Amino acid sequence: MKLKTKNSSFHNDYVHYYTKILCTMGPAIASKPKIIELVQAGANAFRLNMSHGSHEMHKANIDYIRAAEKELGIYLPIIVDLQGPKIRVSDLKDSVIQLETGKNIYIADSTQLKKLKTSKPDNIIPVEYPSIAKDVKVGDILLFDDGLMQVIVKKVDNPLILVTVMNGGMLKSRKGINLPNIDISQPSMSDKDKDDVKFAIAHNVDYIALSFVRKAEDIINIKKYIKKSGGSQWVIAKIEKPEAVVNIEDIVKEADAIMVARGDLGVEIPAAEVPSAQKKIIAMCNKYAKPVITATQMLESMIYNPRPTRAEASDVANAVLDGTDVVMLSAETSVGSYPVETVSYMRTICKEAEKHLLQDDIRLRRRESYISGKESIALLIASAAATIAEDPGIKGILTLSLSGETALLISNKRPISPIIAMTEFEHIARRVGLFWGVTGLVIHKVSGTDETVEEMKEFLVKHKYFHKDSTVLITSGRPIVARSRTNMLTIERL
Ligand code: PGA
Ligand code: MN
Repeated sequence: MKLKTKNSSFHNDYVHYYTKILCTMGPAIASKPKIIELVQAGANAFRLNMSHGSHEMHKANIDYIRAAEKELGIYLPIIVDLQGPKIRVSDLKDSVIQLETGKNIYIADSTQLKKLKTSKPDNIIPVEYPSIAKDVKVGDILLFDDGLMQVIVKKVDNPLILVTVMNGGMLKSRKGINLPNIDISQPSMSDKDKDDVKFAIAHNVDYIALSFVRKAEDIINIKKYIKKSGGSQWVIAKIEKPEAVVNIEDIVKEADAIMVARGDLGVEIPAAEVPSAQKKIIAMCNKYAKPVITATQMLESMIYNPRPTRAEASDVANAVLDGTDVVMLSAETSVGSYPVETVSYMRTICKEAEKHLLQDDIRLRRRESYISGKESIALLIASAAATIAEDPGIKGILTLSLSGETALLISNKRPISPIIAMTEFEHIARRVGLFWGVTGLVIHKVSGTDETVEEMKEFLVKHKYFHKDSTVLITSGRPIVARSRTNMLTIERL
């Protein structure tokens, strides 16, 4: 990443990152100077969580990020994260209701409840889920507030569901409900999600993430909707339902990227099973060359403390070693007391883990060129580039690509050298910013092969990406004027 700023204390050298850090926006970092600080500490991308806040607030955050990007002379991917079919408790009369272990209580959809003519029991938890009484059956378990409270279904008398509290607590308004292994008949996108997709497209964000994905069809549907609404955003499938873990291969094939959403996943399946699910999901993404984000509670204790726990440091490092492309921060940056320290710590942990990763032969085992569904010529070029780049004399791999696809394939081979993806389009320069080891750059002139390559070389020296006389690899599609697919690899001196 080229960090260009008027601030003289910040040097003008190109900073290269392997693992990318994705930060969730929130009041703790909602300003241009804060975002610049986070980027200088090692952040690479930002997430807008549509489960909270108004469009007006999200728009202000987009403006801060785009302004920081301009000032720094870099490209920052923005992800709009849709709430998806998340089921919530409605607004409660006193904002809270006590669930007593062993006692019975009713649950019902709030709209159905309003329509109910007969007399109602007074101990009801109203929820926002019209078909809940049709979807649950006796013996099903429902979890509230990240699994803190648990109830079991005893009787269903539409629209009333009688449950016994297994684990009690104080249930507050708007808290989430998880129904693991219950076949939820809600559509994969709500009206709110559709509205949020339109917002994302109108503001040119780079990725749209869908929560609670159950099957590959959910991804096909949202892609259709984005296209119909005039967008071309890449879609991230959030894996947080047991069905999604079962259907992971089909989902990975269909999605552009994946998030291991360990928050809800760890409620929907036992937390003890999350680490192995994480490894399985990351391996599947690596197999199909799809970028993967590992998310939630990575440095949770840093919401309140300036240092992480040893276990958290190990968790971040292990995600890197598992093969993740991106690590994510949620409340640590959105509402935490130490957002900059958290990013800086995360960057240090990633760097240490990468030393180990880059020595390890798992990286070399990735060099076999076959990836199902990917074009073989570009794959062969990607494998060859990564292999040649093992030589310490090679300082970088430059790609000239229209879609960023070649940069993604090279990234998948985990080369030691930085990958610079040069493109004519800002949105591609931003998109590739989420890929492991890749920096996006916009070049404005693409003419014939030789001139373009010379222009690229001059640009990189002039903007201090590399020293003059460095040896680099260049991939492109020849003839360039015809916008051909990648079919050429050369070794060049700058
Ligand atoms: P969320 O997704 O923060 O939108 O819930 C991440 C997760 O569930 O881990
Ligand atoms: Mn979630």
